[in-house]
Amino acid sequence: MGLLVVGTLAFDSVETPFDKADNALGGSGTFIAIAASYFSGPVKVVGVVGEDFPKEYFDILERYNADLEGVEVVKGGKTFRWAGKYHYDMNTRDTLATELNVLEQFDPKVPESWRSAKYVVLGNIDPTLQLKVLDQLDNPSFVVCDTMNFWIDGRRDELMEVIKRVDMLIINDSEARQLADEPNLVKAAGVIREMGVRSLIIKKGEHGALLFIEDVIFSAPAYPLEMINDPTGAGDSFAGGLIGYLHKTQDVSAENLKRAVIYGSSMASFCVEQFSIRGLEDLSDLRINDRFREFVRLSAFDEPTA
Ligand code: AMP
Repeated sequence: MGLLVVGTLAFDSVETPFDKADNALGGSGTFIAIAASYFSGPVKVVGVVGEDFPKEYFDILERYNADLEGVEVVKGGKTFRWAGKYHYDMNTRDTLATELNVLEQFDPKVPESWRSAKYVVLGNIDPTLQLKVLDQLDNPSFVVCDTMNFWIDGRRDELMEVIKRVDMLIINDSEARQLADEPNLVKAAGVIREMGVRSLIIKKGEHGALLFIEDVIFSAPAYPLEMINDPTGAGDSFAGGLIGYLHKTQDVSAENLKRAVIYGSSMASFCVEQFSIRGLEDLSDLRINDRFREFVRLSAFDEPTA
């Protein structure tokens, strides 16, 4: 049974200190599905768009093998829109606008034949919708949940409910501090795991990521890129690479999760090199595996012999 993703399909308007793009293809579901497609067969996408979502964007998703049977097109509706502006360091951003549009009335329906999906990503979307999707699944083996400050602020109770029911939560450092109400990340991780989630990943933007599972803490480096054009979707590409690799290998042991974190980091590093989804386009197994190996070399060192 394939890999199932719920998330947003969006028009993104992004401004960096160096360039800008309007109404680019974005959304958590989009980035996750494309990143995961390099590892897994057809990714089953549950989401919603308005009639304004162009055929050209559907074509891109289909080119990456996304199965769009679970995507509702709302007649006369407007697609979710997000606008953001990055600061000079490209690591911090301000959200300028979030227009939920068709998301507001969305009642996700997981097609009957998808309900036995074993690997699932609840991408960044309203936690109420994440819960509705969870309720329709038969008996998933591994469910990953992503979220962001917008939902931690606005839907905290529902998010707490989701956290209790998933196997892994992926958030960034500022979201971890916000969720746990604790400035120290290691302590914050402890507080969040007490909320009932088995494993946790805290992404630190250009400083890598931390994986907490059982009594293990794994620190992954970030790839030192000279050129970052658009960090939008890095977190989702990370989640897509991670779940795609887990689905491909059917192994959720702590050791394999570490490798999945590096594949996730590799996909995020490709994503930020170009605007919108362009950095994820036309990759090959060779390039992805080369980048994986570069990550290994980045943090490999020997113990002193004497
Ligand atoms: P990331 O950079 O990985 O955090 O994700 C950026 C993507 O998330 C963009 O393509 C946006 O369309 C999407 N996004 C932004 N805000 C939200 C939100 N409140 N809920 C769901 N998706 C969002």
